[in-house]
Amino acid sequence: MTKLNGKTALVTGASRGIGAGIARRLAAEGASVAITYTKGADAAAAVVGEIEKAGGKAIAIQADAADARAVTAAVEQTVAAFGRLDILVNNAGTAIPKTFEETTIEEMDRVIDINLRGVLVTTQAALKHLPDGGRIITIGSVIGERMMTPGLVAYAATKGAVKMFTQGLAREVGPRGITVNNVQPGPIDTDLNPAAGDWAEPQIANTALKRYGHVDDIAAMVAFVAGPEASYITGANLSIDGGTNA
Ligand code: NDP
Repeated sequence: MTKLNGKTALVTGASRGIGAGIARRLAAEGASVAITYTKGADAAAAVVGEIEKAGGKAIAIQADAADARAVTAAVEQTVAAFGRLDILVNNAGTAIPKTFEETTIEEMDRVIDINLRGVLVTTQAALKHLPDGGRIITIGSVIGERMMTPGLVAYAATKGAVKMFTQGLAREVGPRGITVNNVQPGPIDTDLNPAAGDWAEPQIANTALKRYGHVDDIAAMVAFVAGPEASYITGANLSIDGGTNA
């Protein structure tokens, strides 16, 4: 697989879970990959090690998506390391499940700062470097379109917001051939949403396929959208959800 040869990608929040799967897949397609993380230095180093062992190029950068200065520095560090930036994947995200009435303002701020503000700031920094034909891909959620789980009100609000961010920005940067898309996972087995967790059963029931998905299901769509065959797909909300929102 070589369709991303010569390209550089930055994947935020990629020491584990969906982001790590995306980083591995983009590297397998030929891209040089920078990943960010906050706490998991060892896990991030392991992802870099795996990519290098397979013959790819990768670096890990500690950058909290809620810290505008850190994410801007991460974009600059990526360009300094690989000489260019072609693909941004805004994957870093978190949820703090509890009822809305019990959610503190600090918890709301944290979810908004990572899931929404982080996407805006990182994308703005990346746009300084993205060439014509560049790619901006955000990992939203099926919950950004239709909600059936109580306890995720602020999270749902941020995922709905990145959907409209995607549609809005697609209009602005389209004339440069830069595409902007929102990949919306359904239940995917990760630390954030374990297939064996307390919340798994109702999520499985909500899918048409009656099962969780794998990080590779999301990585495959991201790799497609990042590639040359997807140059006419922009402003799209692409659900990979086992039929959750069918
Ligand atoms: P995980 O919690 O399993 O992994 C999150 C990754 O992001 C880790 O590498 C973590 O590294 C990093 N991270 C966490 N907070 C930050 C931060 N503030 N700044 C930078 N990196 C951070 O999550 P998933 O892989 O499940 O989720 C990835 C994305 O997919 C999120 O946007 C999530 O909302 C979305 N999503 C997930 C679904 C699912 O079912 N799993 C469903 C729908 C959407 P470290 O610990 O080192 O910070």
